[in-house]
Amino acid sequence: MAYKCLKCGKIFEEPSEERELRGFVGGDYAYENMASCPHCGGDFEETKKCELCGEEYGSDEIHGGVCIHCINEKRENFDAIYNISIGENASVEINALIATLLDPADINEILRKHIRDNMPNVDCSAYIDEDLDYIGEALAEGRDKL
Ligand SMILES: [Zn+2]
Ligand SMILES: [Zn+2]
Repeated sequence: MAYKCLKCGKIFEEPSEERELRGFVGGDYAYENMASCPHCGGDFEETKKCELCGEEYGSDEIHGGVCIHCINEKRENFDAIYNISIGENASVEINALIATLLDPADINEILRKHIRDNMPNVDCSAYIDEDLDYIGEALAEGRDKL
């Protein structure tokens, strides 16, 4: 188990424990155990392990069980992100004649090939950043690989 400080951002395994005097109850001093960051004394949270790289991160850097660094590695991997997006459709307007000549699956396949062949390292961030939790979960489940 590891923790991340919410103030200085450091990751640590053992919080520092201090007994703080809380008052005088029934003839006895009452203490409360206060745990804090061993570096700066700040509040902290439990870290989560990235399901891909196994590193511990704070909740701000984990999305759907996967760290932002592992997600970032996929931003220019069109094939991987395409696999995740299969079955999700959006509408665009195209030429009326072309719309009568090709069905949507054909149009999709032509455009997919075009992107693969002509747009190396295309940045898929606009799609990825719409829902980082969804992308993280899909990566954790291996849905980027067919
Ligand atoms: Zn700290
Ligand atoms: Zn990771």
